[in-house]
Amino acid sequence: DVRVRFAPSPTGFFHIGSARTALFNWLYARHTGGTFVLRIEDTDSVRNTPEALQALLEGMRWLGLDWDEGPEKGGDFGPYFQSERTGVYEDYLARLTAAGRTYEQDGAVFFKLLGERYTEFDKYKNAEVEKVRSEPVVVEDAVRGRVERVVDQDFVIRRSNGDFGFHFVNVVDDLAMKITHVIRGEDHLSNTARHIELYKAFGAQPPIFAHIPLILKSDGRGKMSKRESGALIEEYVSRHFLAQAVRNYLCLLGWNPKDDREIMPIEEIIERFDFAGINKDGARFDEQKLAHVNTEYLRALPLETFVWMAAPVLENAGLVDASTDEDYLQRVLALCQPKARSLETMPELVVPFFKDDFETDAAAREKIFKKGDPAARLAELLPALEALDAWTEAGLEQAYGAVAEANGQKPTAYFPISRLAVSGQGGGVPLFGLLDVLGRERVLTRMKAFA
Ligand code: GLU
Repeated sequence: DVRVRFAPSPTGFFHIGSARTALFNWLYARHTGGTFVLRIEDTDSVRNTPEALQALLEGMRWLGLDWDEGPEKGGDFGPYFQSERTGVYEDYLARLTAAGRTYEQDGAVFFKLLGERYTEFDKYKNAEVEKVRSEPVVVEDAVRGRVERVVDQDFVIRRSNGDFGFHFVNVVDDLAMKITHVIRGEDHLSNTARHIELYKAFGAQPPIFAHIPLILKSDGRGKMSKRESGALIEEYVSRHFLAQAVRNYLCLLGWNPKDDREIMPIEEIIERFDFAGINKDGARFDEQKLAHVNTEYLRALPLETFVWMAAPVLENAGLVDASTDEDYLQRVLALCQPKARSLETMPELVVPFFKDDFETDAAAREKIFKKGDPAARLAELLPALEALDAWTEAGLEQAYGAVAEANGQKPTAYFPISRLAVSGQGGGVPLFGLLDVLGRERVLTRMKAFA
């Protein structure tokens, strides 16, 4: 049975690179019907913080990456915090020591490679260092194919302060937790060679490794760092992105379904996800594409869900409160959903529905006043609208038609100025819907004030 794990070190915020690694492990587990383990690699007590752990767990939950074993869940292979596994590491260390594969130096314990030893001057350390001549380690990577890496220096198992080192605990836990596939970032490839040496020393079969491509900055130049805009999952949460959209986009960062589709239900991605679809090249982060995917998801939401998600954002922006008419809010949002770009920008879009002192788009105004005589059009329109009985989209359309005909104009000659007068905008939702939802009173008051 497939057992995969996500093994973060909670030292900061939840970076999209980590989120993508978690996601690919989760996808593989769900694709194979295997088990997704969450293991917290918190051996570095100085750099690991409870806040970072919370950010991580919340980020995972937000993305819908449920784990089968790990913190809060438990499981048969716990504890799932490395800080609680010292006893396990001591046992495994004793096994290596019994096999003659460790030695102590300056209070630290080292893993001893096999092979002929020689010394070499190391210009970075400015000292002679001991090296080991050995065959390159072969990694049969499920994504990258056959990769060779030389491991020519012993490495630390336990530091002089008693803390166990990354390579050792990582391998011991993957062994002890019976991990079958290690899916992690390509930056770990050289670590993998060391890890394979450890597996051999334990007389154990290494898991299958799948190194997934790095996430590159949008210009393709270099790795996406924590400082880059869009690098942190927290940012998407606070900007009201849809979790499902972010997750869908992250699936495309290094994996592709071999057709041009981008927006896919997660069930379908799970069904189609496998190592063959993972790219070798770095995956370029594209904030605009993510925004686009988010827009598509937003527009596809059932109205009820859309209202439920948008209302708090509008409340925060001071546009809506407990006294707002539910039915009016529904109608506004039903009209605006097809034009929504994001929840974050919803307030700008709907301001004229909730406030009379909205701003007028200066560029739109200038454009409208440059051609024709918009003031005259408004004056022609007002009496007809005041006299209109059926204030509905159809009724309004008819009224505009009649006014246009009576004045030798096309109906569209009345549209831009109407829109500008009632909403301050040059574009947006369909005009008759706008007038209908705003209602007679608001429309007439605004048009009169504008004329
Ligand atoms: N704690 C390591 C990291 O966050 C785990 C690497 C791995 O997946 O093996 O980079």
